[in-house]
Amino acid sequence: MKPASRAVHAGRLLGARSPLAPDLSTAAVHVYNDLEDYDAVVRGERPGHYYGRNSNSNREMLERAVAELEGAEAGVATASGMAAIHALLMPGSSGMSIAVSREAYGGTLSMLKQDFQPAGFKVEFIDLNDLDAVERTNPTVILAETITNPLCRVVDLEALGELAREIESFLIVDNTFATPLFCRPLELGAHAVVHSATKYLGGHSDLVAGVAVGSKALIDNVRTRVSRTGATLGPFDAWLALRGIRTLDVRMRRHSENALALAKAMKSIGGVRYVHHPLLEPSPTYAIAKRILADGSGGMMAFDLEGERDAVQRMISRFKLVTFAASLGGVETTVSYPELTSHRSMSLAERVELGIGPGTVRVSVGLEDPADIIADFQQALS
Ligand code: PLP
Repeated sequence: MKPASRAVHAGRLLGARSPLAPDLSTAAVHVYNDLEDYDAVVRGERPGHYYGRNSNSNREMLERAVAELEGAEAGVATASGMAAIHALLMPGSSGMSIAVSREAYGGTLSMLKQDFQPAGFKVEFIDLNDLDAVERTNPTVILAETITNPLCRVVDLEALGELAREIESFLIVDNTFATPLFCRPLELGAHAVVHSATKYLGGHSDLVAGVAVGSKALIDNVRTRVSRTGATLGPFDAWLALRGIRTLDVRMRRHSENALALAKAMKSIGGVRYVHHPLLEPSPTYAIAKRILADGSGGMMAFDLEGERDAVQRMISRFKLVTFAASLGGVETTVSYPELTSHRSMSLAERVELGIGPGTVRVSVGLEDPADIIADFQQALS
């Protein structure tokens, strides 16, 4: 099946009399009348569920769906995207080295700084398009984001995947921004993919969830850890996330079209110094994006306003349709201000070094009519 059809059907096998939409199973525990049967289910030799921290039918459907979309053997759903990243990295022993994109999501960077470094992990914050730097670091694990946050640069996953194979590094890709509709990192050499399903997979800003996918052996390990630490996703959030995935193709296409239209229009709005969009020149990674994200890049973009926080506040106060919100990937167009949201744990100097200035605004372009979105930015910045 093509990705659009997979998004509609993934994670479920319907038979006669199956409910077309999945039932929600809120049961924390299942009953058994045969000890041997219980034991076989716990050992994974028979299908079934026994305790909600270990498995649940709605979570299982979501896990299968994301694994199918990413082309992975297996998946595990977690209480948030951060829980999924944590569970993937945790098995490494202290002394293990992690090379992470220095432009990664601020929450990921601060988890590595505040939790992993003090625990003895060696963490290098580098530009993952600088392959010499990656090779010099010779990391056990590379943690990349398909599209970086907030400046929307694209990592050359083909080149990074090849290098990871050569130097025997384990490549994890956070594919939250691109989604498997536009990029499937496992096909490009990644070993595991992680999502904040809170964003585009869910798509409606009404759940918090994460999913990690990869080989069955890897995911079995991660799943055991997630059960042990209790970073489990609740059934209703899993149900909502699967429901969101059903419309992923149509949403992502519209997000992409709208973001590109807004990015182009922003270039001629007074007061906008620079527009960051993966598929708009002169993005420094434009050529890579054209190759890695041939069908679109989703709804994320950013721009630098002339002026600082006051100018951003004036724009926000004047919006009629757009709102300020810290998250992304929902149906509504929202802006966030990395200085106060995703990158607040960084110092001003660190942000400036990355190119995130006091006038940098990130936009999650929604599904409204593009003319209305553009008009709202034009009037707010006029
Ligand atoms: N990865 C990326 C790229 C993100 O943008 C975020 C959150 O904004 C996360 C991971 C963390 O996801 P969650 O908030 O679901 O824990």
